[in-house]
Amino acid sequence: MLSNLCRHIIDSCPLFEQHCQLCGQRATRHGLCQPCRQQLPWRPGHRCPICQAPAASAQAPCGDCQGKHPAFSHLYSAYDYDYPLEGLITRCKYAPSPALQGVLASLMPQALQHAQGSAGYYQPDLVVPVPLAEARLRQRGFNLPDALAHALADTMRVRFDDQLCWRKRNTDSQAALNRRERLKNVRDAFGVKRRCDGLHIAIVDDVASTGATLHSLAKTLRKSGAKQVDAWVLARAIARQA
Ligand SMILES: [Zn+2]
Ligand SMILES: [Zn+2]
Repeated sequence: MLSNLCRHIIDSCPLFEQHCQLCGQRATRHGLCQPCRQQLPWRPGHRCPICQAPAASAQAPCGDCQGKHPAFSHLYSAYDYDYPLEGLITRCKYAPSPALQGVLASLMPQALQHAQGSAGYYQPDLVVPVPLAEARLRQRGFNLPDALAHALADTMRVRFDDQLCWRKRNTDSQAALNRRERLKNVRDAFGVKRRCDGLHIAIVDDVASTGATLHSLAKTLRKSGAKQVDAWVLARAIARQA
């Protein structure tokens, strides 16, 4: 990890000048300028204490969570999945570059600021990226959840483990499915390589839509003995009308 002095030298040296991935202006750090960084989406108002959906109160769970509590205890998101972050994540998936992946990873610790103000937050023992299927990994050649999980583990100073879980099959083409279909699609999609009795585990993904993937992995980890599983994401999709 770079010291503050090294960062200062890099930030002020023209040789290391970066341009904002959103507007092309000079970026101060991590590939985004300050005005664009301040525009990243986070809708004001109360959030469901379990899944962080916009809610009438921060005390009562939302309707979905009251109907069926997800297998994860809490979901913490850095931002909402909305303009302009939505476009950056899509670009990173279809035209990945180390620079863009680095920008997104640098945004992940923002989730900590939202989490630390929430009831029930406490530090996990282990940070685990949601695994991609081997075929998908080969096709993409990079792993965004892995980069995000690394950034979070570094900030929290918590152990990172990308070997604990594996994905049995590719399930990430879920865009056309509704919540119930997504839950069915990702059922038993994950395997765990060893027992994790008593551990508090943070699982990390880029985007949570219905939370079905995170629910499925959390359920598998709980069955393997995890005491608590929290879900951490860069961006949480929110209903447009909410
Ligand atoms: Zn900018
Ligand atoms: Zn909820």
